[in-house]
Amino acid sequence: MKIFDSHTHINAPQFKGEVAEVLQRAQALDVVKMLVIGYDKPSTDCLFSLMKQYKGIIYGAVGCHPEDAAHYNDNLIEYLRGKLQHPQMRALGEIGLDYHCDTPHEIQKEVFRSQINLAKELDLPISVHNRDAFEDVYTILRESDIQQVGGIMHSFNGNAFWAQKFLQLGMSLSYSGVITFKNAADVREAFMVTPLERVLVE
Ligand SMILES: [Zn+2]
Repeated sequence: MKIFDSHTHINAPQFKGEVAEVLQRAQALDVVKMLVIGYDKPSTDCLFSLMKQYKGIIYGAVGCHPEDAAHYNDNLIEYLRGKLQHPQMRALGEIGLDYHCDTPHEIQKEVFRSQINLAKELDLPISVHNRDAFEDVYTILRESDIQQVGGIMHSFNGNAFWAQKFLQLGMSLSYSGVITFKNAADVREAFMVTPLERVLVE
């Protein structure tokens, strides 16, 4: 089986000088391609050099993470719009809501909506980060007609109820190592109701 990893950060400084080795280890496990997510300028610069070096293996995404929502402004929108023109860039993300962090919810929501509009303008799917914010993420996706571009619920950790709600919006669900946790029986139930063609892994 050939596996596409839908969410990695091998552009993080921790992987400096080790990317070739990491890709080799991934390949040995049939992970042949991956999406690398830029989350700030240095990690996005690193992503661009990786895309150049590993054409056909590494694809990219970039977006303003909800934790950084307070820094979102017109300059950043222009920066993202520019970066997302690259042909190996495949998604806008990760974007969404993180109610575990200190950034005020209203700011996060505004930035999430703004980037969904940008994704639609660029005709790119989105990669959604959701932490303790199911209800509000769902409402924003539903109100913004996300079917137009679609997207991934990254590291989905909800139950079968939420899986079905997001599937109905046309979203795909990406499962991570969380699904193997002892206390994650509800995530395994969510997986069971997810059609295989809507399953991604990371
Ligand atoms: Zn991430």
